Amino acid sequence: QVEKLYRAGEIIMRQGEPGECAYFMQSGRVEIVLERPDGSEIEVGRRGPGTLIGEMAIVDDGPRSATVRALEDCRLLEISKADFSRAVSNANPIVGLVTKLILMRYRDILQRSENVREFAGVTTMLEQQERYHAEESRVLDAVRMANEFKVAVVRKELFLEYQPFIEIDTGRIVGFEALMRWNHPKTGRMRPDLFIPMAEDTGLIIEATRWAFREACKTLKRMITQTGDSALFISVNFSAQDFDDPAFLDELLFTLHETGIHPTQIHLEITERLLLRQSEGVKKILQQCREHEMQIAIDDFGTGYSSLSYLHQYPVSTLKIDQSFVRNMTTDKGVLGLVKSILSLSENMGLAIIAEGVETQQHVEMLQTLKCRVAQGYFFARPMPEHEAASLLAG
Ligand code: C2E
Ligand code: CA
Ligand code: CA
Ligand code: CA
Repeated sequence: QVEKLYRAGEIIMRQGEPGECAYFMQSGRVEIVLERPDGSEIEVGRRGPGTLIGEMAIVDDGPRSATVRALEDCRLLEISKADFSRAVSNANPIVGLVTKLILMRYRDILQRSENVREFAGVTTMLEQQERYHAEESRVLDAVRMANEFKVAVVRKELFLEYQPFIEIDTGRIVGFEALMRWNHPKTGRMRPDLFIPMAEDTGLIIEATRWAFREACKTLKRMITQTGDSALFISVNFSAQDFDDPAFLDELLFTLHETGIHPTQIHLEITERLLLRQSEGVKKILQQCREHEMQIAIDDFGTGYSSLSYLHQYPVSTLKIDQSFVRNMTTDKGVLGLVKSILSLSENMGLAIIAEGVETQQHVEMLQTLKCRVAQGYFFARPMPEHEAASLLAG
């Protein structure tokens, strides 16, 4: 932790400027003042040893709400935003959300009293209040949901559905994607779009993904036993946060071993966004997954804002063309061109292709003409529970 010294009279932080850290006061005294547009100041408080100043900066990106000046020589301990959020997220996801909420309320009160004291119009005050209340109820909802999700795995409220990948020319099932569902005790079956973002924000996704991976492997094992098709594969969705787990690879390998699944039968679906992070850590994990012969598929391919240049830096094996391209390629020449270039790119790079969101006969025919081999979508089948997938496999 960095200790900073300020002389009497020095400005420690200035109102309106961006803040990256808070300070814990070790010794000395400071005054907190609000600066008026005309340059005059109002003192709103004083602080001494053992107190925290500039704490807002470590929870949001707002500017400093006041100026702080040293009245005597001060020793301050710096708490950076990065350190703080790391500590909070390591501590407990709920603590993180609640901390954010409490500090938001505090800033709200501060802002309101400022507005009253100063000249700000009634409308901006109301607007601000509304903004805070919307944000506050969003955070509260997330806290509530996070609390419920925390126990969802142990209470067996999570389950997987399986959507087949089809070889277009033969109609044969070559694999399945595992998709997570939450049977919420109050609201019933919940779509992943509604809970995955929260699970990602809170880090709870890591445990859910572990569970999903294990579950998917066990299902695949049963499917292989049933069909004798040892080339059948299963695709599992991973979030960026999963890669922050130091035990990531060991967990995967352990589960594969335990369930008796060969790594070539596993596809890890990740998004372009993860690759855009350009993290050496992620790169290394993906390389290790490839060395262990797992397959890596880029989900929603084409929707990231990337140039394609980063692709070759990663050990990718499959591109999944995003649904929006498949949907629009029949009516939009530009989109068709894009799909064609993804296909020729994949051929040049030796990558497999899967077209997502195939809904009509027309989509199928066009993909056939374009020599896209494998597809997934409502035209063939919707995601379904394991027993239905099994009877589909039985033909
Ligand atoms: P995704 O990975 O891109 O999955 C494809 C989504 O499109 C699925 O929605 C699937 O049901 C839907 N879909 C498949 N075929 C068609 C089609 O022909 N037309 C249309 N309109 N939709 C189709 P779902 O199951 O609601 O999942 C939504 C997203 O939630 C997934 O998008 C994925 O990003 C995320 N997700 C689902 N399961 C998991 C999981 O286990 N872990 C993580 N990290 N994310 C997951
Ligand atoms: Ca996916
Ligand atoms: Ca997708
Ligand atoms: Ca998606």
